[in-house]
Amino acid sequence: MAEFVGAIDQGTTSTRFMIFDHSGDVKGIHQLEHEQILPQAGWVEHNPVEIWERTTAVVQTALNKTNLTASDLAAVGITNQRETTVVWDRTTGRPLYNAIVWQDTRTDRIASALDRDGRGDVIRQKAGLPPATYFSGGKIQWILENVDGVREAAERGDAIFGNTDTWLLWNLTGGRDGGAHVTDPTNASRTMLMNLETLDWDDELLGFFGIPRSMLPQIQPSSHPSGYGTTRANGPLGGEILLTGDLGDQQAATVGQVCFAPGEAKNTYGTGNFMLLNTGTELVRSKSGLLTTVCYKFGDEPAVYALEGSIAVTGSAVQWLRDQLGIISGAAQSESLARQVEDNGGVYFVPAFSGLFAPYWRSDARGAIVGLSRYNTNAHLARATLESICYQSRDVAEAMEKDSGVALDVLKVDGGVTANELCMQIQADVLGVPVSRPVVAETTALGAAYAAGLAVGFWKNTDELRSNWNESKRWLPQWSDEQRTTGYERWKKAVTRTLDWVD
Ligand code: ADP
Repeated sequence: MAEFVGAIDQGTTSTRFMIFDHSGDVKGIHQLEHEQILPQAGWVEHNPVEIWERTTAVVQTALNKTNLTASDLAAVGITNQRETTVVWDRTTGRPLYNAIVWQDTRTDRIASALDRDGRGDVIRQKAGLPPATYFSGGKIQWILENVDGVREAAERGDAIFGNTDTWLLWNLTGGRDGGAHVTDPTNASRTMLMNLETLDWDDELLGFFGIPRSMLPQIQPSSHPSGYGTTRANGPLGGEILLTGDLGDQQAATVGQVCFAPGEAKNTYGTGNFMLLNTGTELVRSKSGLLTTVCYKFGDEPAVYALEGSIAVTGSAVQWLRDQLGIISGAAQSESLARQVEDNGGVYFVPAFSGLFAPYWRSDARGAIVGLSRYNTNAHLARATLESICYQSRDVAEAMEKDSGVALDVLKVDGGVTANELCMQIQADVLGVPVSRPVVAETTALGAAYAAGLAVGFWKNTDELRSNWNESKRWLPQWSDEQRTTGYERWKKAVTRTLDWVD
């Protein structure tokens, strides 16, 4: 019996392949970044061919480094940056345009038009999402309307759509030579095209965007023994392995953090931040600016739903300090620079680069640094950047408490930014609740491995997964109540300065 499960994690900045054992410990990993293509203000693209090549390379290297082969893997799961939109030709296997990334705001006119004629409310009701540039539907419409020949190819049935899970699954299972065109309900729930109750594409929603149903992948349960086909022997895994799990990255992290009971939540700190609260089989509609989304669907069991607070810019604000301002040379230096000062020196930074997502949903917002005086330095800005990550998370946590009536007693965290100990301390201070990081911080890949392993009996049930979760570190709040209240009031004021900036 194979001793390991593999997981492909196709993220916004990089792609990883990870190999886990039965305890959920990491046996092997390889990771490669891909190019962020920024053709003009507000546009963010990836090259789908590069993403496939990186996936091939990380799979092969991770297997080589661990001296494992396909036969050592009981199954492989996949997780991915959600919403990012790929349209390709099934006869040539070539993308018809670059992938339009979730942060891309080129569809702001498409999104705002939806709220002018009542379509927005139908989308809120059926898909659980506020109309926004974030989701795939408008991005597919943009490609159909703006890229020569795509509309005709779609009508012929040749142009097909997928998020990066679907793109990679199609390539892994044979590509134009019979590749499986499939996705799962967590990814599909981020398109504005899927009905949350039926878990199927909805003709009325498709009509809003002018998208032919034939472009869309088949929706399979997130964990299923035959849902996603088998890898080709001549593919990157070098053998035939069952692909049995598929989850959008944030839902995967929720599974990796074993938030299987209603009321359990996690917050992932990557390019953006994403807090998800398991609401069980009940579909809770937010009154406070959160999304309703599918958390997972395991086999024939009913779907489990989540409330989600999505924040567009958190870790990417740290990248901005590095790449655009050049005040740090690496992400980790944001911590040492911020530690040079005791506090933010009055500076608040609201990184509304892509507008504001949850709980505000204001595409007219743009970033602002406020409260500057002559006294301030790079160190204050670094500190304000870390604080912005934590204050945005508080905005979302407050919305979650309002919608669910459940107060957070501890926040489970994961993702790249959680390596920043100062940021995690500030998070506990700003929220006033303890922050807890697990031993295996790679919860996204772990969640995809769990979905895949459950489908083939590698893990028996979710209770077995729960026993794999162990805490590595906990941060306790240190600020006084007064500090917490004043800081948050200032933050809220800073947020108002970013609004009504673009038409
Ligand atoms: P994703 O899955 O979205 O690609 P990751 O979980 O890999 O993201 O996290 C990458 C993000 O974390 C980057 O935006 C980077 O700036 C940020 N990051 C990584 N290390 C640190 C650190 N020590 N301090 C602050 N931010 C960090």
